[in-house]
Amino acid sequence: MEPPTPPPPPEPARPPAPAPAPAAPLRERLARLWTYFNTPRLPWAVVLLGTLVTALTEASVPALLKPLLDDGFTHGTLPLWVVPVAIIGVFALRGLAHFSSQYALARIANDGMLRLRKEVFERMLTADLSLFSRQSASQLANTIVYEVQTGATLLVGALLALGRDSFSVVALMAYLLYLNWSLTLIVLVLVPVVAVIMKTMSKRLYRVTRQSQTTTDELAYVVEENVLAHRMVRLHGAQAAQGQRFAELSRRLRGLSIKSTVAQAGTMPLAQLAAAVALSMVIGIALYQGQSGTGRGVTVGSFVSFIGAMLLLIQPLRRLTDVISPITRGTAALERGLELMDQVLPETDPAHAAPAPRARGYIAFEQVTVRYADDLEPALDAIDLRVQAGETVALVGPSGSGKTTLVNLLPRFVAPSGGRILLDGRDLADWPLAGLRAQFALVSQDVTMLNDSVAANVALGAADIDRARVQRCLEDANLAAHMATLPQGIDTVLGHNATQLSGGQRQRLAIARALYKDAPVLLLDEATSALDTESERLVQQAVARAMAGRTTLVIAHRLSTIEHADRIVVMERGRIIEQGSHAQLMAQGGLYARLHGGAFDAPRSA
Ligand code: ADP
Ligand code: MG
Repeated sequence: MEPPTPPPPPEPARPPAPAPAPAAPLRERLARLWTYFNTPRLPWAVVLLGTLVTALTEASVPALLKPLLDDGFTHGTLPLWVVPVAIIGVFALRGLAHFSSQYALARIANDGMLRLRKEVFERMLTADLSLFSRQSASQLANTIVYEVQTGATLLVGALLALGRDSFSVVALMAYLLYLNWSLTLIVLVLVPVVAVIMKTMSKRLYRVTRQSQTTTDELAYVVEENVLAHRMVRLHGAQAAQGQRFAELSRRLRGLSIKSTVAQAGTMPLAQLAAAVALSMVIGIALYQGQSGTGRGVTVGSFVSFIGAMLLLIQPLRRLTDVISPITRGTAALERGLELMDQVLPETDPAHAAPAPRARGYIAFEQVTVRYADDLEPALDAIDLRVQAGETVALVGPSGSGKTTLVNLLPRFVAPSGGRILLDGRDLADWPLAGLRAQFALVSQDVTMLNDSVAANVALGAADIDRARVQRCLEDANLAAHMATLPQGIDTVLGHNATQLSGGQRQRLAIARALYKDAPVLLLDEATSALDTESERLVQQAVARAMAGRTTLVIAHRLSTIEHADRIVVMERGRIIEQGSHAQLMAQGGLYARLHGGAFDAPRSA
């Protein structure tokens, strides 16, 4: 048995991109998000009704104080049961309204979240592959899983509070005006003060929030990298440096979090101070009106009701100053999901392409050039190459010579910058994308397995798993014996990226997957380069079975793979510099002969 080897780390993710600047005003951005939360109608009606009931009954307790004090205590004309019964009734009604609006709101938030999250994930599944060089795995996971959820919960909750509290403020104000309009005008001084405080704070808070989200992403990215590279970090003693990197970001995050608290907490005392000033003015003026007899009959009952309603006004007003924080935070979080969708172009898929039959496997590259960036040397430079159906072509050459790029062109993982590629004489761009990809099986150096059963991994993408066929493919891949030793056989769940398998076993599992797919073209990208001799022999046998009857492009360093090839194509710096059989190339005495004479096995390409 081979020694267990760690999974080769996948392509290192790129560092997180800087956050784009906030663009449109809050109202426009909310309007866009609204599309995810605007159906169905019934829950919204319940929320609206519940909110209205809550707001309209807000002033009921102070309103009941007036008859209680004036008619009940002072004049003794009120029947004993009226106020107690009214209080119970009002609170029962308010309780019902509260419960049903909360329930309806949870429905709305979760439905919207479901829709948005599903859409973002589907967008990721069909995104142009450049997305994955711009965004790291942790960034994407963070956006799709956490931010959409936090954003939806915060935003919808805050919108409800906003509605309820503004209704309450209006209802209480109306009651105050009815009781004593001149006193109420004093109270109105509060409102513009509070509004100014709210506006200043929301801007600052939005900025801080965006910064925290980007920093959180970077922090997750450091964790992700250190998980992927944990062996290397230890081997190179890089823990201290990594720890420092993490600590640096954590410190920055802490600073931002405190800034955000300052922005939020600073407003509350200010709002309360404004309320206290208004309260003292009201008391002073009411006393003056009462004593000088200028007021419209300021009774004890109406004064207590007024103060009661006014005190009730503080809570919703204060909450209104706070409401902007969850709205900005929620919007910022949800927008990252929307941004993901905006930035991502879908893969181009010709809409009316003729259906794709099973290809015979004739491949032609015509003057194909690939540039990853305008300022870089082309990774492939005017490549001309024809591969006959059923032919096996080995690609060799130094690291960075463009072998992987050439192979990635076929399933359209990479788009040519110039020239064209034909499969069975039909330009790849004219194939329906799914139909094109069905023609290729790929075994690459970094085998990726899903956290699912062996059978599901082998039959990846198949609608129904043909268990007998899975078994046959595992046998052909020299893996059946090992599978028989697993506790649940082919139903064993492999765990995260199948780390419990050795490197050779993972390679053979990937070959079984390719065999199951039974595609006319097989692409092998250094499938054997990371293996020891024993594994290589087993893998080699499996590869030979997989190649039978298929067009095969194989990138390899090991001579054994290459010697069986019909043709060897030697690449250097994006060009084909020699091709021919092993014997021909050795006789030519070119790069191939030099590489072969020297340590041809030694360099491993990236
Ligand atoms: P090989 O497989 O022969 O080692 P590759 O096809 O992987 O070579 O790479 C060819 C060239 O293209 C190299 O110079 C490499 O740095 C560059 N390259 C490969 N992938 C990318 C990418 N995603 N973005 C930018 N440059 C890339
Ligand atoms: Mg390569």
